[in-house]
Amino acid sequence: MAKKKRRSSARKKRRAMLLRRAILFILAVLLMLVFLSWYLLEYLPNRNGGGAESSITQEYSQPESSEEESSEEELSEEESSEEESSQEEESYYEEESSYEEESSYEEESSMEESSEEEESSHTEDVTGHGFMYIDPNEGDWRLILVNKNYRLAENMEIETRTIHGEEVDARIYDSLVQMLEDGERDSDREFLICSGYRSVDLQKELFENKIWRVMAADPDLSYEEAYEIASTEVAIPGASEHNTGLTVDICAVDFQMLIEEYEETSEAQWLKENCYKYGFILRYPKGKEDITQIIYEPWHFRYVGVEAATEIMTQGITLEEYLGKVDVDE
Ligand SMILES: [Zn+2]
Repeated sequence: MAKKKRRSSARKKRRAMLLRRAILFILAVLLMLVFLSWYLLEYLPNRNGGGAESSITQEYSQPESSEEESSEEELSEEESSEEESSQEEESYYEEESSYEEESSYEEESSMEESSEEEESSHTEDVTGHGFMYIDPNEGDWRLILVNKNYRLAENMEIETRTIHGEEVDARIYDSLVQMLEDGERDSDREFLICSGYRSVDLQKELFENKIWRVMAADPDLSYEEAYEIASTEVAIPGASEHNTGLTVDICAVDFQMLIEEYEETSEAQWLKENCYKYGFILRYPKGKEDITQIIYEPWHFRYVGVEAATEIMTQGITLEEYLGKVDVDE
């Protein structure tokens, strides 16, 4: 009799345990559904790429499944084998997504940014200089205008190739290589790419470092004053053409200083004469400083495509003039 009682109370206990498990499981599933619908509503309208999308889904599904797991942890050992297999699956995803993590995060933020910036927008930096954020995906990629008045909000999403240890947009690589090869052929000219693509993030880092160094040197300066001083020596993030990947600083192997005297080298002279044939322009010419807001730089070349380059170089104008955007749009 007592045995029977004990057995039935054990059965009751077991039933209660099963019930608890079922409730926990239902809760976990509900939580997952809520999270999934939130994710779909919040993120999908902003996205377009299929591949990146799936990697983001994976990322977001991680916290989800670990939540589920933690509630399942309370469950008995019976299910531990099942759990193990789901853990295995998860770690497989983890590997895959961490592989893609950086790029997809970057993409996500730039997508958000650009959809935000679309209607945008005049804005001011801390020194009161007015500028606009541009949408890098709008219009002809070769004619993107980046300067102090037109800035990039975030990193560009570009595929790069490496030349002389510097990265450039893969789409300009062949033209660049051809230009350097032709320029060196049957001559003692020897070119060296000394600067190429720089991400907006890296530029931010360099710029912030500069501001703190300026402030450390003179603690009486305000942040705004330090910003102003820093911007005379380091390009403002998003305002440097090097943030586009369409620009290279080309020096000579035996003249590696970025100073005005570089213009006297045979390398600089050949480039100035011939760059347009390959789609490049001398971006910051002498006498146009009031338009470009950048000092004369005989080493700084920008890809715009052969058609625009031919017009710009033969007429002796700047990209700003070619595009009719000498001042910031009103
Ligand atoms: Zn440059």
